[in-house]
Amino acid sequence: MEQKQNILVVDDEKSNIDIIINLFNKINGGELYNIIPVLSGEKALKAVEKKQIDLILLDIMMPDMDGYEVCKILKSKESTKNIPVLFITSSTDDDSIIEAYSIGAADYVTKPFKAVELLSRVKINLQLQQNFKQLEYYAYYDTMTNVYNRRKFFKLATKKFDTKKENLYGVMIDIDKFKNINDTYGHAVGDKVIKSVATHIKDSLDDEMILGRIGGEEFAIILNADSDEMIYNFIESIRKKIEHIEIFINQTDVVRCTISDGIAKYHDGMPTVDHLLQSADEALYEAKESGRNRTIFRINKGDIRC
Ligand SMILES: [Mg+2]
Repeated sequence: MEQKQNILVVDDEKSNIDIIINLFNKINGGELYNIIPVLSGEKALKAVEKKQIDLILLDIMMPDMDGYEVCKILKSKESTKNIPVLFITSSTDDDSIIEAYSIGAADYVTKPFKAVELLSRVKINLQLQQNFKQLEYYAYYDTMTNVYNRRKFFKLATKKFDTKKENLYGVMIDIDKFKNINDTYGHAVGDKVIKSVATHIKDSLDDEMILGRIGGEEFAIILNADSDEMIYNFIESIRKKIEHIEIFINQTDVVRCTISDGIAKYHDGMPTVDHLLQSADEALYEAKESGRNRTIFRINKGDIRC
């Protein structure tokens, strides 16, 4: 069964919340949506941190923090800025409406409202949101592997580079002799290998680390680490893990593959993230040249082979 979508209802008057809950229950909405009621703006901001919220019905007139303020805060945060906010209010003056849309409201419903109207607006805004998420997915992800595509990777890597250069490392990863895999088993198996490698790398990383597929069988990671040793051991552990995976190409036959890794650490002579990754790429080249299935760590101009 498809998971219910979560709608956060924010109103300082419990009776208003009850009206909305009753409406949803009456017109089939009770089965479609999970209604989460809160009685203040502060509680709304806490709720969005705790739970995945798909849409917010937000009262404007509330003591302490009004709906506009709540909406502004939601729109200023990366994690909540795309949640559609529908204001529900009895204010029908032009200024209130202009203000609501100017701070990022998706819609504006005036009280008293018809049940069908509110439900229709909720439904269409959830649909729009779903379309938006899908477009965002295609724009940011490599659909074969589910990791960031080249463009998004470089965007996020640049952001990390600009904000947290200390102990920043760039890693380039390439599947060894990938052409042989494609030539021997065909592209379908080649794709399977790429997917499997991507999944294993991704599962080894935490949320702060940025992974992208930047070429056919090539991946890059930007991450912070406490020490050179730590990063080297970490990347080596990924390499070893991949060395042992068995990729089933039918009921009985398996394909194995290995990867080569190049690591570089940020230093003052690197004005952009491209320089860091270029340096990692040189280390990767050396890993390939010196026999593959290994990790080469480049600290400065001179290589340190581990
Ligand atoms: Mg109110």
